[in-house]
Amino acid sequence: MITERDLDAATVSNWMREIESVIRAERDHLVQLDAAIGDGDHGTNMLRGFEAVVQALGADSGSPPGRLLVLAGRTLVSSVGGASGPLWGSALRSGGRVLGDQATFEGQELVEVLAAALASVKDLGAASPGDKTMVDALEPAVDTLRERVAAGAPLADALDEACAAAEAGGRATIPMQARKGRASYLGERSIGHQDPGATSTGLILRALQRAVATGS
Ligand code: ADP
Ligand code: MG
Repeated sequence: MITERDLDAATVSNWMREIESVIRAERDHLVQLDAAIGDGDHGTNMLRGFEAVVQALGADSGSPPGRLLVLAGRTLVSSVGGASGPLWGSALRSGGRVLGDQATFEGQELVEVLAAALASVKDLGAASPGDKTMVDALEPAVDTLRERVAAGAPLADALDEACAAAEAGGRATIPMQARKGRASYLGERSIGHQDPGATSTGLILRALQRAVATGS
Protein backbone atom coordinates (compact mmCIF):
# COMPACT_ATOMS: atom_id res chain seq x y z
CA MET A 1 0.00 0.00 0.00
CA ILE A 2 1.46 3.35 -1.05
CA THR A 3 0.69 6.10 1.43
CA GLU A 4 1.42 9.81 1.37
CA ARG A 5 5.07 10.84 1.69
CA ASP A 6 6.26 7.31 1.04
CA LEU A 7 8.75 8.34 -1.64
CA ASP A 8 12.34 9.14 -0.74
CA ALA A 9 15.99 8.76 -1.73
CA ALA A 10 15.62 4.97 -1.89
CA THR A 11 12.80 5.41 -4.41
CA VAL A 12 15.15 7.40 -6.66
CA SER A 13 18.01 4.90 -6.28
CA ASN A 14 15.65 2.01 -6.98
CA TRP A 15 14.25 3.85 -9.99
CA MET A 16 17.73 4.31 -11.48
CA ARG A 17 18.61 0.64 -10.83
CA GLU A 18 15.33 -0.49 -12.41
CA ILE A 19 16.06 1.68 -15.45
CA GLU A 20 19.53 0.21 -15.84
CA SER A 21 18.17 -3.31 -15.63
CA VAL A 22 15.31 -2.84 -18.12
CA ILE A 23 17.51 -0.92 -20.56
CA ARG A 24 20.06 -3.73 -20.36
CA ALA A 25 17.32 -6.25 -21.16
CA GLU A 26 15.96 -4.11 -24.01
CA ARG A 27 19.26 -2.73 -25.30
CA ASP A 28 19.28 -4.71 -28.54
CA HIS A 29 15.68 -3.82 -29.29
CA LEU A 30 16.42 -0.11 -28.78
CA VAL A 31 19.51 -0.45 -31.00
CA GLN A 32 17.36 -2.04 -33.73
CA LEU A 33 14.76 0.71 -33.52
CA ASP A 34 17.46 3.36 -33.77
CA ALA A 35 19.21 1.50 -36.60
CA ALA A 36 16.00 1.79 -38.64
CA ILE A 37 15.63 5.58 -38.37
CA GLY A 38 18.82 6.82 -36.71
CA ASP A 39 22.37 5.66 -36.13
CA GLY A 40 21.75 2.54 -34.05
CA ASP A 41 23.24 3.73 -30.78
CA HIS A 42 20.20 4.48 -28.62
CA GLY A 43 20.33 1.23 -26.63
CA THR A 44 24.06 1.50 -25.98
CA ASN A 45 23.82 5.24 -25.21
CA MET A 46 21.11 4.71 -22.62
CA LEU A 47 22.80 1.69 -21.07
CA ARG A 48 26.14 3.48 -20.76
CA GLY A 49 24.40 6.46 -19.21
CA PHE A 50 22.35 4.59 -16.64
CA GLU A 51 25.26 2.32 -15.72
CA ALA A 52 27.18 5.49 -14.88
CA VAL A 53 24.17 6.84 -12.96
CA VAL A 54 23.88 3.70 -10.83
CA GLN A 55 27.60 3.87 -10.12
CA ALA A 56 27.43 7.57 -9.18
CA LEU A 57 24.43 7.05 -6.90
CA GLY A 58 26.10 4.05 -5.30
CA ALA A 59 29.01 6.27 -4.28
CA ASP A 60 26.64 8.83 -2.72
CA SER A 61 25.87 8.57 0.94
CA GLY A 62 22.78 10.15 2.30
CA SER A 63 21.77 12.77 -0.26
CA PRO A 64 18.06 13.62 -0.41
CA PRO A 65 16.03 12.42 -3.42
CA GLY A 66 16.13 15.72 -5.32
CA ARG A 67 19.92 15.85 -5.08
CA LEU A 68 20.14 12.27 -6.33
CA LEU A 69 18.04 13.17 -9.37
CA VAL A 70 20.27 16.16 -10.08
CA LEU A 71 23.37 13.94 -9.74
CA ALA A 72 21.76 11.37 -12.07
CA GLY A 73 21.03 14.08 -14.63
CA ARG A 74 24.55 15.49 -14.47
CA THR A 75 25.96 12.01 -14.88
CA LEU A 76 23.84 11.35 -17.98
CA VAL A 77 24.98 14.58 -19.59
CA SER A 78 28.63 13.73 -19.01
CA SER A 79 28.46 10.06 -20.00
CA VAL A 80 26.16 9.98 -23.05
CA GLY A 81 27.17 11.42 -26.41
CA GLY A 82 23.82 11.08 -28.23
CA ALA A 83 20.84 13.43 -28.03
CA SER A 84 19.20 11.29 -25.37
CA GLY A 85 21.95 12.08 -22.83
CA PRO A 86 21.45 15.86 -22.62
CA LEU A 87 17.67 15.45 -22.96
CA TRP A 88 17.21 12.94 -20.13
CA GLY A 89 20.05 14.63 -18.24
CA SER A 90 18.31 17.99 -18.18
CA ALA A 91 14.99 16.25 -17.48
CA LEU A 92 16.30 14.59 -14.32
CA ARG A 93 18.14 17.72 -13.20
CA SER A 94 15.01 19.84 -13.56
CA GLY A 95 12.90 17.19 -11.87
CA GLY A 96 15.38 16.99 -8.99
CA ARG A 97 15.39 20.74 -8.48
CA VAL A 98 11.64 20.62 -7.82
CA LEU A 99 12.32 18.58 -4.70
CA GLY A 100 15.11 20.76 -3.33
CA ASP A 101 16.49 19.22 -0.13
CA GLN A 102 13.33 17.60 1.18
CA ALA A 103 13.82 14.05 2.48
CA THR A 104 10.50 12.62 1.31
CA PHE A 105 7.84 13.39 -1.26
CA GLU A 106 4.40 12.20 -2.28
CA GLY A 107 2.39 11.56 -5.44
CA GLN A 108 1.53 15.18 -6.18
CA GLU A 109 5.21 16.12 -5.94
CA LEU A 110 6.12 13.23 -8.23
CA VAL A 111 3.72 14.77 -10.77
CA GLU A 112 5.59 18.06 -10.44
CA VAL A 113 8.96 16.31 -10.84
CA LEU A 114 7.85 14.64 -14.07
CA ALA A 115 6.15 17.79 -15.34
CA ALA A 116 9.41 19.71 -14.84
CA ALA A 117 11.30 16.91 -16.61
CA LEU A 118 8.93 17.12 -19.58
CA ALA A 119 9.16 20.92 -19.71
CA SER A 120 12.92 20.70 -19.76
CA VAL A 121 12.96 18.13 -22.60
CA LYS A 122 10.63 20.33 -24.64
CA ASP A 123 12.66 23.41 -23.87
CA LEU A 124 15.98 21.85 -24.84
CA GLY A 125 14.80 19.76 -27.79
CA ALA A 126 12.08 22.10 -29.08
CA ALA A 127 9.92 19.09 -29.96
CA SER A 128 6.12 19.13 -29.83
CA PRO A 129 3.77 16.15 -29.67
CA GLY A 130 3.60 14.57 -33.13
CA ASP A 131 7.27 15.20 -33.96
CA LYS A 132 8.10 11.50 -33.33
CA THR A 133 10.30 11.91 -30.24
CA MET A 134 10.35 10.95 -26.58
CA VAL A 135 7.87 13.81 -26.02
CA ASP A 136 5.19 11.64 -27.66
CA ALA A 137 5.53 9.17 -24.78
CA LEU A 138 6.45 11.49 -21.91
CA GLU A 139 3.73 14.10 -22.38
CA PRO A 140 0.73 11.72 -22.31
CA ALA A 141 2.29 9.95 -19.32
CA VAL A 142 2.66 13.20 -17.36
CA ASP A 143 -0.85 14.34 -18.34
CA THR A 144 -2.34 11.01 -17.29
CA LEU A 145 -0.44 10.92 -14.00
CA ARG A 146 -1.50 14.48 -13.19
CA GLU A 147 -5.17 13.75 -13.94
CA ARG A 148 -5.30 10.48 -12.02
CA VAL A 149 -3.48 11.84 -8.96
CA ALA A 150 -5.76 14.92 -8.98
CA ALA A 151 -8.76 12.59 -9.12
CA GLY A 152 -7.51 10.87 -5.96
CA ALA A 153 -6.42 7.59 -7.57
CA PRO A 154 -3.90 5.52 -5.58
CA LEU A 155 -0.40 6.37 -6.83
CA ALA A 156 0.27 2.79 -7.96
CA ASP A 157 -2.84 2.85 -10.18
CA ALA A 158 -2.10 6.35 -11.47
CA LEU A 159 1.42 5.25 -12.41
CA ASP A 160 0.13 2.14 -14.13
CA GLU A 161 -2.16 4.28 -16.29
CA ALA A 162 0.66 6.76 -16.95
CA CYS A 163 2.88 3.89 -18.14
CA ALA A 164 0.12 2.60 -20.41
CA ALA A 165 -0.21 6.14 -21.83
CA ALA A 166 3.55 6.30 -22.46
CA GLU A 167 3.50 2.92 -24.19
CA ALA A 168 0.51 3.91 -26.33
CA GLY A 169 2.31 7.16 -27.12
CA GLY A 170 5.36 5.17 -28.19
CA ARG A 171 3.28 2.98 -30.52
CA ALA A 172 1.58 6.08 -31.90
CA THR A 173 4.96 7.29 -33.21
CA ILE A 174 5.01 4.47 -35.81
CA PRO A 175 2.95 6.29 -38.48
CA MET A 176 4.54 9.67 -37.71
CA GLN A 177 7.15 11.41 -39.83
CA ALA A 178 10.04 12.61 -37.66
CA ARG A 179 10.43 16.36 -37.42
CA LYS A 180 13.18 16.50 -34.78
CA GLY A 181 16.45 14.70 -34.19
CA ARG A 182 18.43 12.45 -36.47
CA ALA A 183 15.35 10.57 -37.73
CA SER A 184 14.07 13.82 -39.30
CA TYR A 185 16.90 13.57 -41.88
CA LEU A 186 15.04 10.57 -43.33
CA GLY A 187 11.91 12.57 -44.10
CA GLU A 188 9.10 10.26 -45.19
CA ARG A 189 11.33 7.21 -44.75
CA SER A 190 11.02 7.68 -40.99
CA ILE A 191 7.33 6.67 -41.28
CA GLY A 192 6.51 3.10 -40.25
CA HIS A 193 9.04 2.74 -37.43
CA GLN A 194 8.60 3.24 -33.69
CA ASP A 195 10.73 6.03 -32.25
CA PRO A 196 13.53 4.62 -30.05
CA GLY A 197 13.45 7.49 -27.55
CA ALA A 198 9.67 7.23 -27.12
CA THR A 199 10.15 3.50 -26.58
CA SER A 200 12.82 3.89 -23.89
CA THR A 201 10.66 6.54 -22.22
CA GLY A 202 7.98 3.87 -21.71
CA LEU A 203 10.64 1.64 -20.13
CA ILE A 204 11.83 4.45 -17.86
CA LEU A 205 8.29 5.03 -16.61
CA ARG A 206 7.68 1.31 -16.01
CA ALA A 207 10.92 1.33 -14.01
CA LEU A 208 9.51 4.19 -11.92
CA GLN A 209 6.32 2.25 -11.32
CA ARG A 210 8.35 -0.71 -10.04
CA ALA A 211 10.53 1.51 -7.84
CA VAL A 212 7.48 3.14 -6.26
CA ALA A 213 5.81 -0.24 -5.73
CA THR A 214 8.94 -1.58 -4.02
CA GLY A 215 8.94 1.19 -1.41
CA SER A 216 11.95 1.83 0.76
P1 ADP B 1 21.23 10.39 -31.34
O1 ADP B 1 19.98 10.72 -32.12
O2 ADP B 1 22.09 11.58 -31.10
O3 ADP B 1 21.95 9.22 -31.90
P2 ADP B 1 19.96 8.67 -29.39
O4 ADP B 1 19.95 7.64 -30.47
O5 ADP B 1 20.49 8.22 -28.07
O6 ADP B 1 20.71 9.98 -29.86
O7 ADP B 1 18.47 9.17 -29.11
C1 ADP B 1 17.55 9.31 -30.15
C2 ADP B 1 16.21 9.71 -29.56
O8 ADP B 1 16.31 11.01 -28.98
C3 ADP B 1 15.11 9.82 -30.58
O9 ADP B 1 14.50 8.56 -30.81
C4 ADP B 1 14.15 10.83 -29.99
O10 ADP B 1 13.16 10.21 -29.19
C5 ADP B 1 15.05 11.64 -29.07
N1 ADP B 1 15.26 12.97 -29.63
C6 ADP B 1 16.13 13.35 -30.58
N2 ADP B 1 16.04 14.67 -30.81
C7 ADP B 1 15.08 15.14 -29.98
C8 ADP B 1 14.51 16.43 -29.72
N3 ADP B 1 14.93 17.52 -30.38
N4 ADP B 1 13.55 16.53 -28.78
C9 ADP B 1 13.13 15.43 -28.11
N5 ADP B 1 13.63 14.20 -28.29
C10 ADP B 1 14.57 14.05 -29.22
MG1 MG C 1 21.08 7.34 -32.12
